[in-house]
Parts: sequence; C-alpha cells; structure tokens
Amino acid sequence: MEVKKLFNPEGTRDLSLQRMVGGPSTNLLEFNHCKYAWAEPLYKKMRSFFWIPDEIPLGEDKKQYPTLTPYEQDAYKKVLSFLIFLDSIQIDNLGAIASYVTAPEVTACLKAQAFFETIHAQSYDYLLTSVVDQVTRDAVYSMWKDDEILAKRNRFITDLYEEFINNPNDVNFIRSCMADYLLEGIYFYSGFAFFYALGRQDKMGGTVSMIRLIQRDENTHLALFTNMMNTLRDENPEWFTPEIDESLLEMVRTATTHEIQWGQYVTRNQILGLNDTLIDRYIKYLANSRCEAIGLPKPYPEVTQHPMQWVDSFASMNSTKTDFFERKVTNYQKLGGIINLNRLKPPGKN
Ligand code: ZN
Ligand code: ZN
Repeated sequence: MEVKKLFNPEGTRDLSLQRMVGGPSTNLLEFNHCKYAWAEPLYKKMRSFFWIPDEIPLGEDKKQYPTLTPYEQDAYKKVLSFLIFLDSIQIDNLGAIASYVTAPEVTACLKAQAFFETIHAQSYDYLLTSVVDQVTRDAVYSMWKDDEILAKRNRFITDLYEEFINNPNDVNFIRSCMADYLLEGIYFYSGFAFFYALGRQDKMGGTVSMIRLIQRDENTHLALFTNMMNTLRDENPEWFTPEIDESLLEMVRTATTHEIQWGQYVTRNQILGLNDTLIDRYIKYLANSRCEAIGLPKPYPEVTQHPMQWVDSFASMNSTKTDFFERKVTNYQKLGGIINLNRLKPPGKN
C-alpha cells in the first residue's frame, strides 16, 4: 500500500470510482458530495460531544479517595494506567491509518477521533493531578511498562499497530484497523465497569462523570471502525480470505482473554458489584456483539445474555446501538459555568 498523495492531479470527484483505500481522491472535504453517507452525521455527532475535562469538579473525589478500600484504590490506579496508555497511543496510530484512507470524509472522522483521544489523555492527567499525590501519580505513569501483566498486553496492541507502520500492506492494514476496533470495543470495558461499580456506591462521582463522557466518545469511535471494517470488506472481498477471517477471530479471542485477565487482576474479586465470573461473561458478551457487527461468527456462542445490565444504564447516554444517527444527543450542559453533573447520572439515580 502507498501513502496517499496530498497533491493528486489524477484525483476525481466521480463518486462511483472512490474507495476507502487506494481510491482516486482529490483529498478535498465535501460532505455534500461524498461516497460514505454515514461519515457526515458521525463527524457531527463527535463534534457535538466536545467537552472540557478540567471543567468537571474533582474536589469531592480528592476527599473521597483516601476513604476508598485499598482494593478500590489499587484498581483505580491500575485502570487509569491502562486507559492512559490506550488513549495516548491512539492519538498517533489514527494518523498512521488516516495516511492511507482516500475518503476525506472518513479522514475527517479519524482526525476528530484523534482529537478526542487527546482530550481523554488530558482527562486522565487532570484526574491524577487532582485526586492523588505526586508519588502515586508518578507510579501510575510508569505502570504501562513496569506492571508485568499490563506491559504484556500493551505490547500486544502496539505490535499490531507497528506491524502495519513498518510494513504497510493490505493484510497489516486490516489487522491494524481490527486492533483499533478491539481497542475501542473491548479493551476499555472492564475498566469502565469498575468505575461504574464505584458510581453505584456513590463514590468518586467526578471521576465517574468523566468516564461516562469518555465512553460516550468511544462509542462513536467504535461506530467509525465498524463502518470502516464493513466497507473494507465490501470493497475488497478478496482481502478477507478464510485465513484472514480466522486470524481476525484469533485477535478477538486474544483481546478477550487479555481484557478478562486484566479486569480480574485489577479488581481481585474485591469490588462490590463485580466479580470474576461477571467480568468473564461481560467481556465475552461484548466480543460476540463486536464480531456480529462486522460479519464474523460469535466466538463465545454459549454467552447469550448481558450479565451486568446496570453498566449500560451508566452508559445509556451514549446512544449508539440502534439509532446512532437519529437520536438526539444528551449534551453535556453547563449551568453558570459548572457542568450539570445530574445530567450525567444514570436514569433513576439522583
Ligand atoms: Zn479515548
Ligand atoms: Zn477512542
């Protein structure tokens, strides 16, 4: 594969010739004349979600943190350390993928996503600066390579990304997009569930509000990569051989195993409302639905039920499932300069 040309005199506005990669694009962004109709509403949805981390008050969280159980404190730090890593590498990797995408409307979404990943990375920084002391903060920022379990799984993701960067061929492109898809669709979720378990106990409300805003964004990123994966398959059926599909499924299984192990490792069966079995079922349930969305068979057919519906009540403002492009956004609103946190609480909770 070749990086797209920036000045491309051979580019044409003929939509029938356009392709997600390797197409004759002019590189000019024209939302009213573009091949992928889903890109404009998705871009606008992302843009409407703009939020400012440091406007969320964290004074109460700072007071509450020392009252958390040692297990909760430990999980809080570990989960943040992983999220910091994920969102930080996304910022750069999205640029690597976008360099090969020849649909300006899709590039716009990828670049918007990269900006939101920057907001997320900043939000974790703001959380750690506001809630914990300097020594703890320094430790959290080293865990990505110092914690053995975390280092191993971080290596797995970055190896997939770097395989494409170092050897940009079609197989590696699909696998890199798939790694993005799994990151957005599986890797965040045991961490999010942990924060929501705290939220259910009315603990760390500022942190939980922030995580809900982040998950709302991640769902748009998931929608972007779902559409990209399906478009790549439609346009390049010859790329998706049975061997490639099997290798994608193998990636899902590995990602699922890593996420379950990680979720169980950070929570140690000691967080109210979460346990090892629930985490196992929940992540496998997600893996099934992620596979279904991009035309792969379910890897865990024995798991048919969502085991923790309450997680979705925290995430309900994210609204991406069935009516992603229709439903009115639950915007984050400011009242007199202060975020109205009540709007971020799950339905039925005051
Ligand atoms: Zn993110
Ligand atoms: Zn994301």
